[in-house]
Amino acid sequence: MVSYGMLRKRNHNLAKVISDVGWGIFVNFIDYKLQQKGGLLVEIDRWFPSSKTCSNCLYQMSEMPLDIRKWTCPNCGMHHDRDENASKNIRAEGIRQLSVLEGLLLKEGKSD
Ligand SMILES: [Zn+2]
Repeated sequence: MVSYGMLRKRNHNLAKVISDVGWGIFVNFIDYKLQQKGGLLVEIDRWFPSSKTCSNCLYQMSEMPLDIRKWTCPNCGMHHDRDENASKNIRAEGIRQLSVLEGLLLKEGKSD
């Protein structure tokens, strides 16, 4: 059984490993592990506006300072938790990129 304290320690250890080895090496490791399992790593552009784009209507705020943790979309009125909204946008962008890749592979006749 895993306790909360053990999880915290594991997360802390994972964070330390990531900072020790650097983000690039960590991403290479994840990519390697995904390839072993038949997965595919999709990287999102570092400037992709995940935090300041409404995941409901795609309205993009001009600014979103880091201290703003919750916000309401002025276009559709949806209330957002900053990180939860960003995770939805990153997931949607990853799926979009995969669908573009799939389309390219189908066009080239390389899909299964
Ligand atoms: Zn919206």
